[in-house]
Amino acid sequence: MGELQKVTPLPIKKPVITKTYQEEQATECSLCNDTEFIILDNNTVGYCECRKQKELQRRIKSSTIDPANMKVAFENYRIMPHNKKMYECVTEYAKNFDEIKGTQNNSLGFLAVVGEATIKAANMRERQQLMAEHNNFGLGKTHLQTALALDLIHCGYTVLMVNDADVIAELRAAQFEGEINNKIANMADVDLLIWDDLGKSKYTDWVQTQVYQIINQRYRSGLPIVFSSNEDSETLAEKVGGAAVSRLYSMCRGRWIESEGPDYRLGNDRS
Ligand SMILES: [Zn+2]
Repeated sequence: MGELQKVTPLPIKKPVITKTYQEEQATECSLCNDTEFIILDNNTVGYCECRKQKELQRRIKSSTIDPANMKVAFENYRIMPHNKKMYECVTEYAKNFDEIKGTQNNSLGFLAVVGEATIKAANMRERQQLMAEHNNFGLGKTHLQTALALDLIHCGYTVLMVNDADVIAELRAAQFEGEINNKIANMADVDLLIWDDLGKSKYTDWVQTQVYQIINQRYRSGLPIVFSSNEDSETLAEKVGGAAVSRLYSMCRGRWIESEGPDYRLGNDRS
């Protein structure tokens, strides 16, 4: 960004045709050849009109949202009695993100009432009862988080949406490649980090340390985190680590939402 931002509005210029057909096909914008800059009448350089669209595409790409989910939106969420609170909380958050992001409690967490670790540790009989009474799967948390991500990306924010299993594997790979600090810095810098299914993976001491670093760096920079988890407050701390959860808890004050209810999807595959 910088001073160039003020160069508006841009006159739309007809391009001089000097390119071959193949060259024309290779670029999306014939005004600027995809450089995103054009020479203005007074011989200064300005942004091409395609830049806004290309920036949006870049933000979408770098968000790592699954391209199959581009049509996910608040408007196509199935609101039901048990997920209404989640829906209202996240739409209010999206609407007021401009103001919320600068406050101390700028984050949001969706948790279970009875965590997956508790259910897994129970004996068979108890487990079936717990699963029947405290379902936390298929409540549409990923849908809401994706809708939030896309909404804020269209407003101009940089968002990174990660899934626990993928991101833990990426952290391990980054460590192996000597890139762990860059990886953590990337996750610590975006306007909003969305972490789906926090605590799903196997958390070793090393993983806990890396995840704490990411959360703590964002906390110290005043940058928000939105997360969902199938664990409850206690089991999440057991998995992810008490220090990380304590940070999250203070960041999410007022938006620490514990939910349960019938499965949002028709099937009941516990994913
Ligand atoms: Zn252009």
